[in-house]
Amino acid sequence: MSETLISQWYERYRDSPHQVVIREPHRSRELTADELFERSELFARHLAARGCTRESRVAIEVADPMDFLVAHLAALRLGAISVPIPAGSTVGELIDLVADCTPAVAVTDRVDVGPWHDAKVPVTAVEASRLRDDSVCLDGAKPDDIALMLYTSGTTGKPKGVPLSHRNLLATALAVVSAWEWTKEDSLLLTLPLYHMHGLGVGIHGTLCAGASVVAHPKFNARATIDQISTGDVTMFFGVPTMYAKLLASEGFEKFGGLRLMVSGSAPLSEEAFRRISQATGCEPLERYGMSETGMIASNPLRGRRLAGSVGTALPGVELRLSKGDRGEILVRGDAVFGGYWQRDEATLEAFDGDGWFHSGDLGSLTPEGYLVINGRAKELIIKGGQNIFPRELEACLEEIQGVVEAAVIGEPDEYWGEKIVAFLVSDAGELDGDVVRQFIAGRLNRTKVPDEVRYVDALPRNRMGKIQRELLKGIDRTTS
Ligand code: ATP
Ligand code: MG
Repeated sequence: MSETLISQWYERYRDSPHQVVIREPHRSRELTADELFERSELFARHLAARGCTRESRVAIEVADPMDFLVAHLAALRLGAISVPIPAGSTVGELIDLVADCTPAVAVTDRVDVGPWHDAKVPVTAVEASRLRDDSVCLDGAKPDDIALMLYTSGTTGKPKGVPLSHRNLLATALAVVSAWEWTKEDSLLLTLPLYHMHGLGVGIHGTLCAGASVVAHPKFNARATIDQISTGDVTMFFGVPTMYAKLLASEGFEKFGGLRLMVSGSAPLSEEAFRRISQATGCEPLERYGMSETGMIASNPLRGRRLAGSVGTALPGVELRLSKGDRGEILVRGDAVFGGYWQRDEATLEAFDGDGWFHSGDLGSLTPEGYLVINGRAKELIIKGGQNIFPRELEACLEEIQGVVEAAVIGEPDEYWGEKIVAFLVSDAGELDGDVVRQFIAGRLNRTKVPDEVRYVDALPRNRMGKIQRELLKGIDRTTS
């Protein structure tokens, strides 16, 4: 068998067939390595009997993490393409997805499968694997065959389909296993959605490539997470910044100090959050950076200095450079980087240059130690009167103002300046005096960065990965100062 995620997985558990790979405390059940081999084979044969072949897209809309894992590995073993999608997607979302990737079958655990019927896709469930086709050959996928299609989070536009090969998936999983010294003894608490790179490409695939275990909660809940950590049976936790914000506000967060690793990613972790987590737990969180198209790109070190506000240095096997030397657009190359978007040739052409560098759309700079700092996305950059304004820098500064809980900054068209700066604040001290805000910013940053308008909202619109949905802010105009 060639080097694929599947061959690594066999290799890792060969000498420990009875090791638990996944455990679900909420349903009091678990699967050992040999049970997972067996269940995924059974389901792969079931999918084959339902007409799936190599390269068929298998939509997986399964809320239960263990069933999700069985279905996902079954698709990979068949040489088909696993397409994970959020459980409970609406009819409209399903119809869009079906038009884009034309799945041969949908695996779902939703009670009402009507929306899939409306989208004209045959459905099946992991529990229902009764049909089987024994003639089909499993585990024949080659490293460059597509294994998975992820949809990007849709932060800057319509989500794009990102086909990832076995080689791509293995590169990211092996990079994090090695950088974070992930071993068989580790048990990861995973409460992230599995239709995304963070939960699936890092959490699940990393576990399989380390021969380790995962304790899976189908949804994040701060109380349940702290209670799980308190049992002392997990060693690592991966989360997004909004999860850490909720954990910080919950009693018992100091229990996280017993973990060997707390990872944050998918959205920026503020320096303030880094400090508060470190103070509360006695351990520094480890921030890393990646994207659907490239897998994991950079990470703070497991053993060396972790720098607040930075995502560390390139992971093993990743070539990383900035378009203008020590700053500019983040460019990436390596085995973890995908080959091009699903049926979007124009977007693919735009994203890769002649030397094969993928242009991430993220802007970064290097600290004197060579650590990467993400300044935001190129698309979010505000150009006011010819000056570049990075929303992230301004947001971090606004969040230092007494009473400001969260801040988001966007540009809006302006006749004179080209763009004006609009700041959205969540405040626990009511609406602040406009002069206080202006003077605070003017005292810390260049005057050109002082917001032209400040608006107040009860909460910033964020998706499940904790990313600010700036598009949704554009319509809000409760101007006060
Ligand atoms: P879309 O591409 O559809 O607009 P998206 O870029 O949010 O959505 P993902 O691939 O899920 O979709 O997310 C990758 C992006 O998340 C990165 O390009 C980067 O902007 C952001 N990101 C990930 N990790 C971090 C981090 N540690 N700090 C700051 N930003 C991060
Ligand atoms: Mg993106």
